[in-house]
Amino acid sequence: MSHHWGYGPDNGPEHWYKDFPIAKGNRQSPVDIDTRAAVHDPELKPLCVSYEQATSRRIINNGHAFNVEFDDSQDKAVLKGGPLTDTYRLVQFHFHWGSSDGHGSEHTVDKKKYAAEIGDAKPGLQKVIDVLGSIKTKGKSATFTDFDPRGLLPASLDYWTYPGSLTTPPLLECVTWIVLREPICVSSEQMMKFRQLNFNGEGEAEKPMVDNWRPSQPLHGRQVRTSIK
Ligand SMILES: [Zn+2]
Repeated sequence: MSHHWGYGPDNGPEHWYKDFPIAKGNRQSPVDIDTRAAVHDPELKPLCVSYEQATSRRIINNGHAFNVEFDDSQDKAVLKGGPLTDTYRLVQFHFHWGSSDGHGSEHTVDKKKYAAEIGDAKPGLQKVIDVLGSIKTKGKSATFTDFDPRGLLPASLDYWTYPGSLTTPPLLECVTWIVLREPICVSSEQMMKFRQLNFNGEGEAEKPMVDNWRPSQPLHGRQVRTSIK
């Protein structure tokens, strides 16, 4: 095994359990959402997204994906309601994507793979795309202010929810996943820009940052609940 986890044949998701045994745990993510098996739960509240005061700070290539980071020192941008009992601050969002448009999302819906998935947390995306050239390699970051994350949300906040995990090591089983039903539109040209990023650091052999997604994990009896009637 390569010394550090990644998405390659020698260090990809099939190898992660060796350093992170919870990879074989019983509430791992992502999962396939079987829309017909999902149970409508009338107790589920609407999601409440309050991102008006969000303050983006920086965008960074961490060698696995890129993160857009926010000032989370105060309750500026918060998510509550839905299945959540607490208030959660927006800390960062990132994406997972494929080597072609036919795959890339981590969660799948009725086995359908999407071209990418935003983990968090349109025209809203172009500002992100435009800065990617300055963070091509691992470890590079750029100042990234005044980004409005609301531009990445679909019109509907209908969702599926289930108890899961981080989808990258350490794969901790501490996540209440909320997967929005409505996808957002991204052009093939925009997806091409994602694929021009590199997993490697500057001056190292070029490894395009593609297929940085973990495949579906077993549900192990978990129930997916939905706000959708
Ligand atoms: Zn993620």
